[in-house]
Amino acid sequence: MSTDTHAAGATPAEQALSRLHRITSSRELDFEQRVDAILHLGAEHFGLPIGIFSKITGDSYEVQQAIHPEDALKPGMSFDLGHTYCSHVVKADDVRGFHHVAESEIRSHPCYSNFALEAYLGAPVIADGERFGTLNFSSPQPTRPFTGQDIELVRLFAAWVGHEIARRRDLRALETSRKELERLATTDPLTGLYNRRYMEDCLNRELERAKRYGKPLVVGLLDFDNFKELNDSYGHNTGDAALKLFAKVSSDMMRETDIIARWSGEEFLILMPETGAAGALKYLKRLTDRVRESDFKADDDRVELTLSVGLGLAEADDTRDSLISRADVAMYEAKQAGRETTRIHNKEEG
Ligand code: GH3
Ligand code: MG
Ligand code: MG
Repeated sequence: MSTDTHAAGATPAEQALSRLHRITSSRELDFEQRVDAILHLGAEHFGLPIGIFSKITGDSYEVQQAIHPEDALKPGMSFDLGHTYCSHVVKADDVRGFHHVAESEIRSHPCYSNFALEAYLGAPVIADGERFGTLNFSSPQPTRPFTGQDIELVRLFAAWVGHEIARRRDLRALETSRKELERLATTDPLTGLYNRRYMEDCLNRELERAKRYGKPLVVGLLDFDNFKELNDSYGHNTGDAALKLFAKVSSDMMRETDIIARWSGEEFLILMPETGAAGALKYLKRLTDRVRESDFKADDDRVELTLSVGLGLAEADDTRDSLISRADVAMYEAKQAGRETTRIHNKEEG
């Protein structure tokens, strides 16, 4: 029975409306639960135990959600639209009701021989101005004649399902743009790698984690050698292409736990959690070898791209800045040592 007994003296239609209001304004129910609640409400109110929310695409009628006393209808079941009762709704583009099909004008229609339902009440579901499908209620037993109020109620239920579909689409579109915004805010547009801002957050987080669990953490700064020369000789676009090549090679070689970002112009920062000096050196050698050996062409010349690398190993009292500045000093030392090499700056060295 309905739980709306508090509405003393309310007519069944008023009770149905108040239940609809509660369903559609509930914050706890998701889309499917709302539709399910509307199907139960309609089935109970009209005395028609089968309720279906369908999607119609061309000639195909597909069950989206349904309630059935024997659970005989499952989402995804599909039927030829022409053989369904809903074909009458589609044809009329409006609510249709038959309370005793055997004595109605559709008794020789294939829907009756197919499904043998004696009572049917259905309405089109419109979402964003386009027909989506139908909301319909039915029974193998004939029922009392439908009233004008029944017609209005089923139309209203279907309209609400249409609103819910539109709302779900809006929510999904919002979620997609939120993700896109987040991607834009954390990505460097030229290389597609993470940007500096994102890396700064990662550094804070990973440094805290390394300290808390006493795990090693390595930060590597990689700076292109003689990049100005490359730009000057071959143009800025060639320089850009070299940065993109580095991004591609490093992304392809990326280990799952590592994070790499474009730190500034032609300088990249790689964060290697749970990695010690030996592992970091080995990995970075493979990476810089791969970049150097890649077939990078500029004006038909083959140009060898080399990088100098500075490593900083996290210590217990490190801050983000102290760790990076050690990697920076190490990188400077690598440049001083003639470039195309790697240096580690240990804390004891000052
Ligand atoms: P070193 O070996 O000492 O690192 O020499 P370098 O020429 O690479 O070093 P420097 O830092 O003096 O120059 C870096 C150059 O990178 C300067 C700048 O014009 C160029 N650069 C920075 N960002 C970009 C970019 O997005 N695209 C291109 N093409 N060039 C860039
Ligand atoms: Mg450089
Ligand atoms: Mg630089």
